[in-house]
Parts: sequence; C-alpha cells; structure tokens
Amino acid sequence: MKKDFTIIAGPCSAESLEQVLSTAQELKSLVSPDFFRAGLWKPRTRPSSFEGVGEIGLEWLQKVQKDVGLNVITEVGSPYHLEKLQKYNISSFWIGARTVANPFSVQEISDNIKNTNVNVFVKNPIHPDIQLWIGAIERFLNAGIKNVYAIHRGFYPYEKTHLRNTPNWEIPIELNRRFPDIKIICDPSHIAGDTKYIGNISQKAIDLNMSGLMLESHSNPKTALSDKKQQLTPSQLKTIIDKLQFRTSNIIDDTYKNKLIELRNKIDVIDTQLIDILEHRFKLVDEIGELKKENNVTILQIERWKKIIESRIEYANPDNVSRKFLLKILQIIHKESIQRQNDIFDNSK
Ligand code: PEP
Ligand code: MN
Repeated sequence: MKKDFTIIAGPCSAESLEQVLSTAQELKSLVSPDFFRAGLWKPRTRPSSFEGVGEIGLEWLQKVQKDVGLNVITEVGSPYHLEKLQKYNISSFWIGARTVANPFSVQEISDNIKNTNVNVFVKNPIHPDIQLWIGAIERFLNAGIKNVYAIHRGFYPYEKTHLRNTPNWEIPIELNRRFPDIKIICDPSHIAGDTKYIGNISQKAIDLNMSGLMLESHSNPKTALSDKKQQLTPSQLKTIIDKLQFRTSNIIDDTYKNKLIELRNKIDVIDTQLIDILEHRFKLVDEIGELKKENNVTILQIERWKKIIESRIEYANPDNVSRKFLLKILQIIHKESIQRQNDIFDNSK
C-alpha cells in the first residue's frame, strides 16, 4: 500500500466491549489501520432505531487505544459529545453528514476546540451542496485546527441506483481543486450500502487520487445493530485492501480523468432524462390507443406518420443529428407505439 494512504476501519456502531475489542484486535493484526472507528451516538432518521451506546463506548475506545494500540475516532454532533471525548482524552472525531448541514452545530463544535491539536474529519453533507461542505471545513480552519480532513460518503440518491448514496465524484474533485491541501478520505461503505460494491468504489477513489478510505468492519456483521449489509469482516476488508492498485499520479492523466468523469456524469443525467421522456411519450401513445379503440379508428394513420417524419427531420439540425439516424430512431419508436396500441386493442394491456 502507498505510504501516506490513510485507512480508517471499524464498526458502524460500538455495540459491546467484546464486539469492539474483538473487531479492533482482528483489524490490528490483519490491516493495522491508522484509526479504529466506531459510532457511539448514531444520528438515526427514526428514533426507534438503535441510537448508539453513548458515553460508555468511550471507555471501550480507550481500551482499544491502550490495549490494542490503535488510534480511535468517533462521531461528534454537539459540544456535549465533544466534552465527553475530552474527558476520555480522545482527540480525533468526525462530523457526520447530517450535522455538517447545520452551520450552528458546526460553529459551536469548532468554537469549543479553538487552536487545539485535534484531528477533525468533515463528512460531506447529505445533499450535493459543495458550499455547505466547504463552509464546515472553513469553520474548523478558522478555529485554528491544523488537521482538517474531508470524508466523501456520497450524496442523497435523487436517482435510485444500486448504490445507497450517489458518489457525485465531481464534487470531491471540485473540493480538491479548491482546497488542494485538504486530504479527502473516501467512505465506500456508506456510498455502497452493500459489501459487494465496496471494492470497486475503493479502487475508483484511489484512481481519483483520494488520500484514504474509511471502511466499516464488524467481527460478525450478521448481528450488527446498524448498517449490517455494508459491514465487512476484518478478513474481507483485508482482501479488498490487498487487491487495491495504487498508481503514481500524473497531472496530465488526472486532468484527463477528471474531465472524463465530469462528461460521463452529464451523459448519465441526460440518459435518465431520455428514459423519462420516452416513458412520458408512451403514456400518451397509450391514451391515444384507448381513444382510437373507443372510437373504432384504425391504429395506423399513414398521413400522421408521414407528418411526424417530415416535421422531425425538418426540426433537427443535420449537423448534430443526421437524417439517417433520426429516421431510424423514429421508426423504432413508431414500431413500439403501434405494438402498444395493438396490445390495447387486443385487451392484453
Ligand atoms: C457513520 O459513519 O457511521 C455515519 C453515520 O455516517 P454518515 O454521517 O456519513 O451517514
Ligand atoms: Mn454506518
């Protein structure tokens, strides 16, 4: 592994002394992470979910620090949490995605650690708003904190995909462009939501020159009280880390890759718009089918079809969309429309 690459690993939540210690020991012997993570106060959407063990977990983390010899890190969401961390001499914490979205909380937390020697990791806010992320980072920089890092954990999925959170890679890339000295750690566990996608996302983060990974790991994920599906066993985590390929970064290559990602992201959005528009069009086609059926009119109206072709070809700029291509697309759409109306006539729809 690359020398200055940071690995943060540990369970989503601390659940018991036994779970914390066994996970920490396994992780220490298999991958020796730079930080052992465990959430103690869990920001859950609904109050009925497991909300963390709270202060008692700090004693367990202290044990990890002393007995296992790993640095520890947990989530802080209020000055109250911070005060508890200080009581147990724990000097690294992350600000969660929900807290980052609240400038009052971030300001209060940063006011309480002015000019101290702590490590602060700032997760991106849930919504893809780079300004909020930057704002939180600036509040800690303004408080005189030298070790401020960013954590990219993905964003609210406006378009549902196989991932729990959408990576929007262009956002951390832009953060890196504006704050080249802030290291960005990727959190593939919360992006993926499922262990099967974690390897690929981790590799992508490395290809984009990120400075580390935060990975959720539990000694027995099946019994986890939160984020079960995305927690790796320590040995699965080791397998993923061993497979990662580190490349030497090269400026030209990075500029090319970033541009490519930016353009591909735009294409992804346009493709979903295309699908939405097709869906909308077919709904109208179906309505017309019903109308024709009620009025006993034939499906194929040749005059209308001729007009569609003529008017669309006239509308399109042939330098951008060739006549031949447009004709092909229109024919495919027309064929599908006729098929749908046939199904309506046959009552099979
Ligand atoms: C976490 O890391 O356990 C967590 C709650 O993450 P996030 O704030 O990114 O949802
Ligand atoms: Mn989690």
